[in-house]
Formats: sequence, C-alpha cells, structure tokens
Amino acid sequence: MAKKHDNQRSALIPILRAIQDEYSYVSEFAMQYVGDLLGVHAAQVYSVATFYHFFNTKPKGKFIIRLSRDMSSIMKGAKVIARQLENDLGIKFGETTPDGMFTLGWTSCIGMNYHAPAMLVNNEIYSSLTPQRVHLILEECREGLRSRRPATSRVGSTFTNELTYTEHQDDAGLKKALAMSPSELINEVIASGIRGRGGAGFPTGVKWKLAAEAASDVKYIICNADEGEPGTFKDRIILTQYANLLFEGMTIAAYAVGAREGIVYLRAEYTYIKMLLEEILRGRRTEKQLGSAIFGKEGFDFDIRIHMGAGAYVCGEETALIESLEGHRGEPRNRPPYPVVSGFHGKPTVVNNVETLASVSVILDRGAKWFASIGTERSKGFKLFSVSGDCSRPGVYELPWGTTVNELLDLVGGEDAKAVQVGGYSGALLPASEFNRKLAYEDLGMGGSVIVYGAQRDLLEVAENYLEFFVEESCGQCTPCRDGNVKLLEGVRTLLGGRCSSRHLNELISLSKTIQVASKCGLGQSSPKVLLAVNEHFKDEIMARPIAASH
Ligand code: SF4
Repeated sequence: MAKKHDNQRSALIPILRAIQDEYSYVSEFAMQYVGDLLGVHAAQVYSVATFYHFFNTKPKGKFIIRLSRDMSSIMKGAKVIARQLENDLGIKFGETTPDGMFTLGWTSCIGMNYHAPAMLVNNEIYSSLTPQRVHLILEECREGLRSRRPATSRVGSTFTNELTYTEHQDDAGLKKALAMSPSELINEVIASGIRGRGGAGFPTGVKWKLAAEAASDVKYIICNADEGEPGTFKDRIILTQYANLLFEGMTIAAYAVGAREGIVYLRAEYTYIKMLLEEILRGRRTEKQLGSAIFGKEGFDFDIRIHMGAGAYVCGEETALIESLEGHRGEPRNRPPYPVVSGFHGKPTVVNNVETLASVSVILDRGAKWFASIGTERSKGFKLFSVSGDCSRPGVYELPWGTTVNELLDLVGGEDAKAVQVGGYSGALLPASEFNRKLAYEDLGMGGSVIVYGAQRDLLEVAENYLEFFVEESCGQCTPCRDGNVKLLEGVRTLLGGRCSSRHLNELISLSKTIQVASKCGLGQSSPKVLLAVNEHFKDEIMARPIAASH
C-alpha cells in the first residue's frame, strides 16, 4: 500500500485503516512501524490516529456499535434504542463488554435520517431500529452469524420524488463535452449558472476556469463525498443509485481543466458503499469510459480512485479534506492560496461536491440554457433536499431553487411545524413566521439538509444536541471554537436546568458572537447560530423553564 502511494505520507490513513480492519485497533507498535515505513515521526502518526473518530488506539470489541445521535434519530427514538443496547449488553456508552465482543458508542449523523434510528456495527448499517430488532442483531453477532468485517449493507429504499437524473442516458453529457474544446466546455458550465451544491455556492464554472488557467502539468479532480452535515443524505442516494453520473461529471471536469487523476473522498460512515463504487469504476475502465484515450479522444487520459475518510465532520471543508488526503489531521488551511491554485500536493485541484458533479453531467447533455431556465436569478437549476424530522413524507426531493419553506413543508407533510432547520446544523433555525422565505442563494443558500421540528419539540434540547456535535467535531485549531463551544454547551445545560438569569444569557449571546467572528472556518462561524436563533425566536423556551432537580 505504501508503494502504491509512492511511499508518500498520503498512504498514512489508508494504511492505518488497513491495520485497524485486521486487528480492530492501531497499536503503538503499529504506529512506530508505519512511521518508520513512511518517514513520519511516530508522534505525528499518533496525532493523526487520535484525530479521527473511526481510529481506535486501544483494543476494542469485536463488534463496534456506533449509534447515531443526530436530531432526526433522537426524534425517532434513538434514546430508547440506547437503553436497549445498554441493558442487553450490560455496559454503558464508551465501554466494552468483559468478553471483548462489543464496544458501545455514539456517533454523529450517518446519513440515515430517513431510516432513523440507525447504527453502524463495524461498517455495516442497521436502520429503522426497534428494541426487538436490536436484540436480534446482538444475538446474531453473538452466535457468529455476523462477521467482524461485513463489506456491504442492505438499506431500505429512501423515498425520492421524480429525479431528473433518472432520465439521463449513460455518458450523454461526457460525449457532448468531448466534442467541445475545454474552454467551450467551461463556458457552457459558466453559462448554466450552476453553483457548488455542498453549501458554499461558489460558481462551478469559475472554479474550473481558474484551475484550467493554473500553470501545471499535474492537476487533480476531487469529489467531496464527505457528506457529514447532520440531516443530509441526498449524496448517499447519488452514490448508491447514480454513481455513473458522478463519475461522468468527474471525467468532464478532468477534460475541462486538464487533470489525469480523480479521487473520491468517501466518508468513513459510507464504507459499505465503497465496494459498489469500485465495481462501477472497473466497469467504466472496461468500457473505455476511464483510462487512456477515453471514448477514443487521443491525449485524454483520466482515472478515478476511492479514498476513505476516517470520521471527521470538519473534512467536509475542502482544505481540511486535502490535508486529510495528504495523511494529516483534517485541519482547515489558511486561504489563499485556494486549492484551484495550490491544492492536493501543492497542485491545482478542483474540489466539487457529489451533487455538483452529477448535475454537470445532466447540464452538458441538456444544455446550459435549459438548466439556467430553472430556478431564480442567482440560483440556477434544480437542487436535491434531504428532508427528515416531524413530517409525514420525509425523503429526498428534487426542487427548483426558489421554492419557499412553506411549499416544501406542504410537499413533505410538515404543515404543523414549529421550526425548520435548513442547511443542517450549521444552517438556519427558522420560526414559522419565516416559512415564506426562499430556498435560494438570494435568501437561504444551503447544502440540502432540512429538519422539521413539530410543536412538541424542546428547542433548547435541540440546541444542546447541536452544541454537543460541534464540541465533538471542532478540530481544536482555534481557541474560540475549541473552548468557546464547550462554554456554550455548559451554558445551554444551565438554561435547560431552569437556572437562568438575564445576565447569564447575555453573556452566552456575547460569547456566541465572539466565536462567530474569531473562528477560522465555517464550523466555528456557524456553531453558535442555534443558540442565537432560539434566543431571538423562542425566548419563552429559555425563560419559562421550570427548575430541574438535576439535569
Ligand atoms: Fe478547527 Fe473550529 Fe477553528 Fe474550524 S473554527 S479551524 S473547526 S477550531
């Protein structure tokens, strides 16, 4: 494996994953050995291994259970499942059974909000859990009916409305792209108006143009498949049902900018999808859709590989993702330089989200004009939304940008909502008085996560859940984010206990604003939003709380 990566440090995370797959954890001896192999100090190997949630540096159980604690799971009964697990196994969260069979822990969102509550057992997904089902799963593990390293999972189908992707003919966009010059192709993507579907909304064609203009013989296309924003599962649908569109989009991007290598950075929680993607890639190589002279285009050589993440929300940020790919802790870089100029291994790199790349395939087939005719002035085209929570028809919805929150709620059966979280935990918590707002960059730009909260939900508990997530996921690089979020979480727990004074609340609001302005990346800049929103729109839920005996 080290040889495959030219003994470069970027082999570090794949090697650590392979060791862990074999031995269930990465020992100090293994860290020393890998460090010697790659010329990396053992202390740095340790620093990487302890950064990612999915690496164990101590022995764990044969079956590692990770129960998702995103809000959709909590609303659908994750705490009942947690009690069942504790009672059945006779251990608490964070512990391993004395016989070394099971380790029990919580994890962040695993992209199963539609099928919540859900958990991972090693790399296998179990969704729509009930206490009875949990008992059966544990029995099957005990009886040896489940292996330690299952490779794939069967996940029930997720509801989607009619997706444009379904009508796409294989590689129709790529064939049309190859008939153009790279600059004509980039102009077509610019004319479509498509902006990155990951949340930041940077114009995709402009990103490609900058990478194409960067002087270098080596360039990279990276697909960001680190779908970690809680409540988001639309990329999982593309990866499992429309992966060819994604690979087609990556190939189009490579032709546009002059790249020969593409990498899909797949989140650790989606390990069970890896085999499927690799099988599709093998098929594409056989059909000359990848490799040398793609579709007979002399001089156009391109291939794609899958790189597994190791569990870190912050790696959804493109520079943190590149750090991770290079075998480092996933800590965001200072910008500039931007990745289009100096990205992976210092070379011009395009990082695009799964949905962006799949959509580009459709744009090239149907034309920029068609795409630009959908949506609003500054938000062109259609968009996928993952909807979960208190609604009768959750699922993945394709809608034009510009749809209002009210229209979306009518569609998904969430008319009785008290609040809606748009854009995941880092997005906006909206009260009913703002449901006339538009899902569009002019108003509510977002990556696609929508969580509906019904009248019965305690929004201060929601704030606690979000802040637990941000405390867990902060990379620790900057103090306001690392320490400030801990203070906010403590403050919210005080508020939950009914022990609130106006002075205390004002201090928390002031701290929130400091964290927002002084944090380096989107995580710290967004983490206080939920408390600010609860304070602004749902202050009664803070001030009118009964004093709890203990919390
Ligand atoms: Fe890391 Fe938080 Fe700073 Fe982002 S804001 S770089 S996650 S410490």
